[in-house]
Amino acid sequence: MASKSTRARSGPKVKAVRLNTTLEQIRARVEPGRTYPQGIVPLGPERVRRAPRREAAGAGGEDKFFPPNAGAHTHVTFHGGTVASNAPVQLIFWGSAWHHASTSPSAAVVHDAAAKLLAGAFMSDLVQYDVGRSALRTSVMVIDPDPPPKPLLTSDDDIIGLVLAVLRANELPDPVSPDRPIICAVVLPPNAAEEHSDVAAGAHFWGAIPDIPIDPDAVTWVAWIGNGDLDRIMRTLGHEIVETCTNPNGDGWMDDSAGSDDVDEIGDICNASSADIGFGFLVESYWSQEEHKCVIPTHFSLRRLFRHRLDFSINRSLRTTVPQRSHARGKVDWVLDVSTRF
Ligand SMILES: [Zn+2]
Repeated sequence: MASKSTRARSGPKVKAVRLNTTLEQIRARVEPGRTYPQGIVPLGPERVRRAPRREAAGAGGEDKFFPPNAGAHTHVTFHGGTVASNAPVQLIFWGSAWHHASTSPSAAVVHDAAAKLLAGAFMSDLVQYDVGRSALRTSVMVIDPDPPPKPLLTSDDDIIGLVLAVLRANELPDPVSPDRPIICAVVLPPNAAEEHSDVAAGAHFWGAIPDIPIDPDAVTWVAWIGNGDLDRIMRTLGHEIVETCTNPNGDGWMDDSAGSDDVDEIGDICNASSADIGFGFLVESYWSQEEHKCVIPTHFSLRRLFRHRLDFSINRSLRTTVPQRSHARGKVDWVLDVSTRF
């Protein structure tokens, strides 16, 4: 009985929904000809380093793990635009294949892994980019309509259209709060492939997608995550989340010193540089401009947090002319907190 009541209180982790629409209708809603620049996770060899137990455990005061380091000279800078701070992450498992018992990893396993990743210290070093951690919402599984089955490809527009359809159907587990933009990550099933799947394991779109029918202020950012084993899904998901948070509209944190055709976001610099820090799946590192290293935070650091909070109060006052609608409300609290504290 105890487990039953626990389950009733916490509710399902993944909610299955039918959207009462067709793929054609989903496509028809997406503005034709609109382009969505993307930051992608390219396919490539995995550079995995298992975290030695002592490092993973944070012995000797270590609260980070440094996997193989890619670009010591990389210079990630802020471009004056938006960051997505404390933006909740919404997983949308697309396709009835997710409903099959034989699908592995299952939606529930991916949801649990994402919950573990976000509940941990993984995002805590994003504080240097003025980004607070994300929480995971109850996931949604869209069992109708299906994405185009292989060998057909799921287009960028299909992904955007699906997210809009889910928002319009009001099928997210709780209302989209206007001051809490969310990050929707569409996870494809084994029998579907995105049109860039030959080069990418996943991507996030630059540019907020307004959800006009529900609430003119509701905004979401969108990413897609290709199918694969749990390691691949999780390293792709982590990569896209940290990049969406630090560069949601293409005007946040990135290294474009090599020109606009060669933009690196904080995940790209550390591509496929992953480790299992004790979760049982791979976690991909991201670039720490502060340390000029690819990092995977393993433990929370109060020292890190308070130092950056103080920095924020100074930086924020220098950035007051920048439109920060997407995260201003959340950040104001932080600045006030700092002022009071220091
Ligand atoms: Zn990327």
